[in-house]
Amino acid sequence: MTANELPILDGHNDTLLRLYRSEDGGVQSFFQQSNEGHIDLPRARQGGFAGGFFAIFCPAPSGPRMEESLVITETGYEVRPFPAIDSVYAQKVTLEVIDLLFRLEAESEEQVKVVRTVDELLDCMQKGILATILHFEGAEAIDPQLEALETFYQAGLRSLGIVWSRPNAFAHGVPFKFPHSPDTGPGLTAAGRELVQACNRLGIMLDLSHLNEQGFWDVARLSDAPLVVTHSAVHALCASTRNLTDRQLEAIKASEGIVGLNFEIANMREDAHKDANTPLSVMVRHIDYLVEHLGIDGVGFGSDFDGGITVAQELGDVAGLPKLVAALREHGYDEAALRKLTHENWIRVLRKTWKNG
Ligand SMILES: [Zn+2]
Repeated sequence: MTANELPILDGHNDTLLRLYRSEDGGVQSFFQQSNEGHIDLPRARQGGFAGGFFAIFCPAPSGPRMEESLVITETGYEVRPFPAIDSVYAQKVTLEVIDLLFRLEAESEEQVKVVRTVDELLDCMQKGILATILHFEGAEAIDPQLEALETFYQAGLRSLGIVWSRPNAFAHGVPFKFPHSPDTGPGLTAAGRELVQACNRLGIMLDLSHLNEQGFWDVARLSDAPLVVTHSAVHALCASTRNLTDRQLEAIKASEGIVGLNFEIANMREDAHKDANTPLSVMVRHIDYLVEHLGIDGVGFGSDFDGGITVAQELGDVAGLPKLVAALREHGYDEAALRKLTHENWIRVLRKTWKNG
């Protein structure tokens, strides 16, 4: 990182899944610069990427992939709903990917660390160690009796997305549709309500990305923590089910929560086209709208790097993050605002959410 760059904390990436699926299933490729995917250590350093939420996502063991389920409609698109996955399978994959993360840490020669407290996070940022926060994208690996939750917490789990865009024992994920409201079905199950309270008690951050609107309001009613959406965008600017309505933004602001902007270009363009040849001004427009509705303390980045997304060509990958910061600076955000957007807001929310300092 050069002196003038701001360190960036990011709300969401799927790099662990990319490594898990790679041919050797190993971690060494993370330490070498490549053109594959969006994040490796050398490119992270170039981009001032100080760390963020590293998701564990369980792909379905079989069945159609995302692209095969996509139906283009007259006005947009619709992805055929994904079925629930088996929880025994999910727990097995989750343990394997946690193992991969710990190997990444161990083989990094102190260049990567799994952080469990804000103090550890700040310490890493100061020393230039890449800070990874263990996150589950979908709670399938946790049994409805929540017996596994404490164990995962002890292993380092500090952030939990209740669902991905499919149903599980706790809630109903929002299917991918455009144009459509995020109000697509019922809210949390009884086990889901228990899960929210247990996460509050342990100090595990709850991530409301991929939850449908009813589920969102259930959490808003139940949770005593700031409402957090790690990787979404603005529904008023791009009417995807994955994006947040003005009413949801209002509730997030009232809870002193945060939204991390998802870099998937199709979730930001008004026409939802997956076109990499889209100017950064489209991203700046979403940041402006979020800041207008949440205040400058309620907005961050939530790239979704390595999550099968199409990123604006100009940005490219994690090494391109300073270009987004430059675009925001050019647009009028001063240094204090940029510090908040790039890292201070995530730190503020974690301080309020994690119970262990
Ligand atoms: Zn996601």
